Amino acid sequence: MPCKYLLLDLDGTLLPMDKEVFLRGYLRAMAARMASFAAPEDFVKYLLAATRAMVENLDPELTNAEVFRNDFFSRSGLPEKEIMAVFERFYHEDFPRLAALTGNTPLARALCLAALNQGIELVVATNPIFPLIAIEERLRWAGVGDLPFRLVTAYEAMHFCKPRPQYYREILDLLGAGPAECLMAGNDPGEDLVAGDLGIRTFLVTDHLIGRQGSDRRPDFTGRLSDLLAFITRRREAASGQQ
Ligand SMILES: [Mg+2]
Repeated sequence: MPCKYLLLDLDGTLLPMDKEVFLRGYLRAMAARMASFAAPEDFVKYLLAATRAMVENLDPELTNAEVFRNDFFSRSGLPEKEIMAVFERFYHEDFPRLAALTGNTPLARALCLAALNQGIELVVATNPIFPLIAIEERLRWAGVGDLPFRLVTAYEAMHFCKPRPQYYREILDLLGAGPAECLMAGNDPGEDLVAGDLGIRTFLVTDHLIGRQGSDRRPDFTGRLSDLLAFITRRREAASGQQ
């Protein structure tokens, strides 16, 4: 077995997207929903600052959601109860329409099924800056929403974000796994290859590669999503050939 756990990034890996295009559409839609509470440019400023606070937080006592709320509401002075209800409505009613800003590929489902078929457990290792509802929605867009993931890293439960090594450490702890049992696949060298710092093998998926300056980490494997599928499938054939 090539690995016991396959950790998969979502945005730009399982779900084809141009991150900048998606982010712009997401911020515009959310700011529009909040228009009666804050001017769009102010709202976006608060949201991005609170997101930065989440990414920078290293206090293991606080979930990402707690860090977000603490920063967002102290910074903006907006009424927490009302705004949280608007966030909720946004994710139920507006967020699903953002699917139009992403693509999809049958390879995502084929890859997940190939892994499951050989007993590999799947982890959605997406940056936990979103609530679970937004991640489950994007998993549906990617065509894998019904699959039995062992773990989906969402902001309600996680205490760290990419690119912190602590994020990957928390995944290992939640799985009760050692780094050698895992393979992390993602499209962002700056965020996804950090898993390698802990001894997790990494596969850089290049279909929607994010070019980042200053990332000197080298992946163990590089290729397109189809190559990752072949890698998993080949290993299955190799493994069954040994029996
Ligand atoms: Mg990504």
